[in-house]
Amino acid sequence: MTRPRDRLRIAIQKSGRLSEKSQELLASCGLKFRQSRDKLFCFGETLPVDLLLVRDDDIPGLIHQGVCELGIVGRNVAREQTLAPSDAPVLEELRDLGFGRCRLSIAVPQEDDYTGPETLAGRRIATSYPNLLGDWLRRHGVSAEIVVLNGSVEIAPRLGTAELICDLVSTGGTLAANQLKEVENILDSQAVLVGGAVEPGDERADLRELLLRRVDGVIRVRESKLLMFQVGGADLDAVLALLPRGGEPMVAMLAGEGPRHAVQVVCHEPVGWPQLENLKKAGASQLLVLPVEQMLQ
Ligand code: ATP
Ligand code: ZN
Repeated sequence: MTRPRDRLRIAIQKSGRLSEKSQELLASCGLKFRQSRDKLFCFGETLPVDLLLVRDDDIPGLIHQGVCELGIVGRNVAREQTLAPSDAPVLEELRDLGFGRCRLSIAVPQEDDYTGPETLAGRRIATSYPNLLGDWLRRHGVSAEIVVLNGSVEIAPRLGTAELICDLVSTGGTLAANQLKEVENILDSQAVLVGGAVEPGDERADLRELLLRRVDGVIRVRESKLLMFQVGGADLDAVLALLPRGGEPMVAMLAGEGPRHAVQVVCHEPVGWPQLENLKKAGASQLLVLPVEQMLQ
């Protein structure tokens, strides 16, 4: 494959847990693609950025070989491959993307008496993540046997392949269904935007920067909320001091009895029940939290 030097390539998972959200993120960044017939390579129509649709495990290697410059993978895949004992890809985790959240955990049979990492000594643990597990065991000074399986790790104890497992968990439902309990969380994972080293003078560096800025904008909007409320003049300062991190609040005078104000502010931090209750206690009323759709700062 020849590559014109001025086009950037980004690889995402073709079909799986990360595919839809990855495509959504790129669409929110204003990228549109013309899909080719083999559906592996999609030509970017709005920017010189093309898309590769591949298996998630191939993405770090493709970046390492220079086939593409950016990719979206679970942190678990990125870390597992960068820990490989030989020819580990050089990969930078550029942004946390806030979806595909899960954890890599060690699970033991429900009846097992687990008292700490030393309980694992000398036992057989099945996993698709031998490098991450090996690294964790070493750091905890435990020597155990790692059985590498590529899929259906959770049934290993029933099949007798291994007594314990180390696998991805999100709700824990699969573990419970297999009479296993989670005892150690060895990695918190989510989808991350990864990239290789950028050569100085590479024309695509500017394009990569532009894309990173758009990704930042999309993430920021996703986390932002518009908070609106009313407050009496005497409580205004106390309430403003409690506001979550965000933009400059807009304070307007309300018509009617007594000095009352209407306040509007874009918050970049979660605004949940505890925050609202604290604001109310300090004198705010008529609190409204609204989603933000687009933002240009
Ligand atoms: P591929 O065919 O691309 O190799 P896969 O079977 O390896 O797909 P998926 O099961 O689609 O991968 O998972 C992709 C990523 O989704 C995982 O690497 C992980 O980061 C994330 N993920 C989120 N929740 C879970 C979960 N409950 N189980 C497994 N992966 C999860
Ligand atoms: Zn995979």
